[in-house]
Amino acid sequence: MKINGMKTIETSKVAILDHLIGNAVQISLVAHTREDGDALGSCIALMHYLSECRNCNVGITFSDPVPDSISFIIPQADRNRIFIKSKDSTSTTEWIKNSDLVFCIDCNSFSRTDKLQDVYAESKAKKVLIDHHPSPDSAEFDLSFSETEISSTAELLFYILLEMPEINHDASKLPIAASNSLMAGMTTDTNNFANSTFPSTLNMASQLLAAGVNRDEILSNLYNCYRENRVRIMGHMLKDMMVITKKGVAYMILDKETIDKYDVKEGETEGFVNIPLSIKKVKMSILLKQDEGYFRVSIRSKKGISANKCAIEYFNGGGHEMAAGGKLYYPKDIAQSSMAAEYIERVTVTFLNK
Ligand code: 5GP
Ligand code: MN
Repeated sequence: MKINGMKTIETSKVAILDHLIGNAVQISLVAHTREDGDALGSCIALMHYLSECRNCNVGITFSDPVPDSISFIIPQADRNRIFIKSKDSTSTTEWIKNSDLVFCIDCNSFSRTDKLQDVYAESKAKKVLIDHHPSPDSAEFDLSFSETEISSTAELLFYILLEMPEINHDASKLPIAASNSLMAGMTTDTNNFANSTFPSTLNMASQLLAAGVNRDEILSNLYNCYRENRVRIMGHMLKDMMVITKKGVAYMILDKETIDKYDVKEGETEGFVNIPLSIKKVKMSILLKQDEGYFRVSIRSKKGISANKCAIEYFNGGGHEMAAGGKLYYPKDIAQSSMAAEYIERVTVTFLNK
């Protein structure tokens, strides 16, 4: 199968995948920490393919609870097939230990699974990677599907599944729950076709729509079901907290006090970091969100500036070329939390002068 008119899902790899699935008794799926729509949607889609088309026993393991804002992606009947390490440590660990095949999804290394890293590293199971981030840790895996010129892991998974014998290039043969979650995953990672959209992405959307996906319902769940406070805090941040430096870097720092005041929950600031990029003079946007001993960092950039490099060099992180993230620790990186603004101002000058 060609992706973007040039990339191919290798037939030999599909045959190995088919064989690994055929021999598996218990399968465990994992994605990066603080799972997003692409990570969750891809896991749900793969679980439905494996259980409905291949009769496999499948569980999804995450290190963190699923944010309310994307939990609609999980069909009601699947809720007990998701193991959360931070909530139920023992059963999550047991599930992974008893699995003979594991899939690492939307995550280029087990190190990005955070609290689950050690259990996966010690697992004797066969390991498969399906991911679209740069620099995959291929040595960790028996089989790797890694592609960066693609919108999302959901899209990569879609094209892999089309190759599988039961689906045989006919998207209408995918379980509908898989199709819905693939569409949801791709939609979130492209920010509803605003970025990373390739010919293959639109081709995927077209095939999924024809297969019966209800895109209107997905869009409504993704973009029209937030709590009021999300819009209120967004207004407050853009009006009172956004700073734009002389170099064209916009940054916003969401401290603990404001998080508590507006009762900001996980996932409720999704997309905020993109908004300052709508200003012509802004080249890069950085959002800091305070946590215990560190700030979580989100970075977005315009073409020609690497959010990924900035995240690697100054924020202990990584990601994609124009969408990346990381952490800023105190007192390791800055002596105290109040010095975050000064740090951003300083390192972005150095970074943009390079
Ligand atoms: P977000 O800003 O939406 O949290 O993350 C944007 C992108 O950066 C995602 O692709 C995510 O995987 C990546 N990313 C976020 N945080 C980290 C991190 O701490 N380390 C690495 N390597 N990537 C991250
Ligand atoms: Mn992704």
